[in-house]
Amino acid sequence: MTTASIIAPDVTARAIEIRRRIHRFPELGFEEERTASLVERELSDLGIAHRRVAKTGVVGVIDGGRPGKVAALRADMDALPITERSGEAFSSEVAGKMHACGHDAHTAMLLGAAGVLQRDRATLAGKVVLLFQPAEEGPGGALPMIEAGALDDPNVDAAMMLHVDVRLPTGAIGLTAGAVNAAADEFHIEIEGVGGHGAYPHIAVDTIPCAATMVLALQNIAARETDPLKSVVVTIGTIEGGYRNNVIADRVKMTGTFRTQDESIRTSLEGKARRIIEGIAAAYGAKATLKMIFGYPAVINDAALIAALRAHLAASTTLVLADPPPTMGGEDFAYFAQRVPGAMLRLGVRNEALGSIHSAHSALFKIDEGAIAAGIETLVTFARAIGSGQIAVGRAPGA
Ligand SMILES: [Zn+2]
Ligand SMILES: [Zn+2]
Repeated sequence: MTTASIIAPDVTARAIEIRRRIHRFPELGFEEERTASLVERELSDLGIAHRRVAKTGVVGVIDGGRPGKVAALRADMDALPITERSGEAFSSEVAGKMHACGHDAHTAMLLGAAGVLQRDRATLAGKVVLLFQPAEEGPGGALPMIEAGALDDPNVDAAMMLHVDVRLPTGAIGLTAGAVNAAADEFHIEIEGVGGHGAYPHIAVDTIPCAATMVLALQNIAARETDPLKSVVVTIGTIEGGYRNNVIADRVKMTGTFRTQDESIRTSLEGKARRIIEGIAAAYGAKATLKMIFGYPAVINDAALIAALRAHLAASTTLVLADPPPTMGGEDFAYFAQRVPGAMLRLGVRNEALGSIHSAHSALFKIDEGAIAAGIETLVTFARAIGSGQIAVGRAPGA
């Protein structure tokens, strides 16, 4: 299924060609030299001013011919350490690397939108900031771009991104208000006791029962310490300890993940986990340490922006709109959405006939390129509506 689009066929064809070129040469986080150079070349050819930030990030600025607000459009550029098995004719030519999350399409669609906006800039109100971001899959390029002033020159009023999504049919645009994914934080626990002979437990400090109690007690955070109407996931992913059947283990290591959508719950977890872990270790005569590794926060879509954008797209385009449920995945667009009203939209790419059915991060991942026109149209429409004030954000004009 494709929808009638305001995007000319040659614009779409060019975006598809660029997408395939990027797809053949995937690059991991902060190594996107080839992709960033391609982006810079395209922007230069279009006559769009651009600058490098955060090593391989590129910021382009389109200056409209009329006064107005500033919209930011963000595309990520990095690939994953996966060996491609999609069967596409333009599959990765780099062993062990693959665009398995659709960032090649995100980059190509943003270049397509940039071309349309630049061509019509005489009638464009405001400015459009094009954010070509490195390292979304880790360690994260959004924060370094923000620290390098990507949202400040010019001052961005609202930001939007699209992510391809196999849950939605090709070309459908998913708009969901509030938390659309989760914060994913990692924890490492180490328990230290005293080893010994399995037959003489009274002269050792056994870390195995201590670990077992901790595993069960940590679930209390979800079961007894969190508002039942909010969500938190506590998962212990690994337990490692012990030597053989008749030796008391002097050490156990465990790792796990916390998933949350609410920032206040998220920040309370470390303290709760530490209280449980240290309390149980003390009760068993052992010692325990907890180390947290914080990932990206949840993306919180601005509710007013999503409502206004939904109404605007419904009134001014023939795009098919959807309201998909949140996922528990992570996405560092969260940092942009913390600074300015943000909207992370989903772009449906599901097409059973083409085999576009596998989830992102699968070696079989494939997208239906029939969605690309709808993606470009959504980016262009957002930028124009923010710039012209058709979608109101931030301070009143002239304030
Ligand atoms: Zn991904
Ligand atoms: Zn992604």
